[in-house]
Amino acid sequence: MTKVTQGEDLLTKDKDYLWHSMKPYNPNSTLIVEKAEGSWVTDHNGKRFLDAMSGLWCVNVGYGRKELADAAYEQLKQMAYFPLSQSHPPAIKLAEKLNEMLGDEYVIFFSNSGSEANETAFKIARQYHQQNGDHSRYKFIARYRAYHGSSLGSLAATGQAQRKYKYEPLAPGFIHVAPPDLYRTSEKVNDKATDLQSVNEIDRVMTWELSETIAGVIMEPIITGGGILVPPDNYMAGVKEVCEKHGALLIVDEVICGFGRTGKPFGFMNYGVKPDIITMAKGITSAYLPLSATAVRKEIYDVFKGSEEYDYFRHVNTFGGNPAACALALKNLEIMENENLFSRSKKLGTQLKEDLSTALADHLFVGDVRGKGLLVGIELVKDKATKEPLEMGLVNKVIAGCLQKGLIIGKNGATVAGYNNVLTLSPPLTISEEDLAFVKQTLIEEIKAL
Ligand code: PMP
Repeated sequence: MTKVTQGEDLLTKDKDYLWHSMKPYNPNSTLIVEKAEGSWVTDHNGKRFLDAMSGLWCVNVGYGRKELADAAYEQLKQMAYFPLSQSHPPAIKLAEKLNEMLGDEYVIFFSNSGSEANETAFKIARQYHQQNGDHSRYKFIARYRAYHGSSLGSLAATGQAQRKYKYEPLAPGFIHVAPPDLYRTSEKVNDKATDLQSVNEIDRVMTWELSETIAGVIMEPIITGGGILVPPDNYMAGVKEVCEKHGALLIVDEVICGFGRTGKPFGFMNYGVKPDIITMAKGITSAYLPLSATAVRKEIYDVFKGSEEYDYFRHVNTFGGNPAACALALKNLEIMENENLFSRSKKLGTQLKEDLSTALADHLFVGDVRGKGLLVGIELVKDKATKEPLEMGLVNKVIAGCLQKGLIIGKNGATVAGYNNVLTLSPPLTISEEDLAFVKQTLIEEIKAL
């Protein structure tokens, strides 16, 4: 019989056999989560934590939703797998549903992760230009501080040098520009798009690089991993206009912003723009099963519909669009709609941001409170005048203090490579008002204790 592994034994085996992502191994900070329900997770010692960082993995409908497990189980019993070089009903129904949410103008290519969805987007964009006779359009403009994935193309698009330099050379052809940072630059929310330095920079770079070498721009609606950078309202429209001027495609990475995180079904919907390509993952299944998608405007897809073998998209993904994951995703989207989670995210997020701003306005280290929907960042600085990031020791102290009290929060930023000085809150969109009050109170206490 297999020996049941418990308690300290689990920690030892975790140390011996598991390679963790993102951080050096530290048995004192490793959380082994055994159970999860609603907004709460329980570790292997039975201690409960409210997961206000779930937005990083996008458990948008909360943990423990039996309907989701049932949807996957029923599908697995009926038909566990068939590839999407052919087809099956759950993928067809999910593609139809996503298209309905996106305004009926897209076709969907399924993969398994955000990184893969972005790789797929880059390959589609390059081939699209080639099939239009533009053989030199291979470059992508991306932004510093953005994260787009861990594979060699999506990492090349990522604008955080500290994640990249050990693995170079990455895929060639990615050029970075500064994103708007309303806290640190002179751009204003109400500046005209044509006056925005961050939009003009993209225009200039495309001209300097030669328009006819540019395949597209990739951007998140709100940069998440680089410090919750909410752009001016007309920034995305400005970028789209610049793309059209230079014949480039606009790819929007909705891997975190999608599925209600920013208070709308998709983040770009806050900005009145129709992207050419949209990538999504995580929240599509509320992270219950791996699934991602690349939605492509029908006019782009039409260019691939030639009669010659040569014209097909030569890209395959064995597990992408897995039937159980698609069935689960459909149920997940149904829950989001039935429970009005997009508008709930907007309402609760606006209140959360306001309450934190008010409570922390006078705090010495709180430089900025920003976000959209249930995606809120608090930028901690050493000095409000210079805006120099607060040292990591103090940022980590807040996070550790919250954890001690049973609250998991996140941090990100990379204003300076390695400086993650923006505390991040992104709880499930189903979080109860009582639990949200606990999040606020705990965080405020820990920041005030600095
Ligand atoms: N894009 C964004 C905006 C992300 O935040 C992430 C992951 N954090 C990715 C892409 C990559 O997704 P995955 O880890 O599923 O490959």
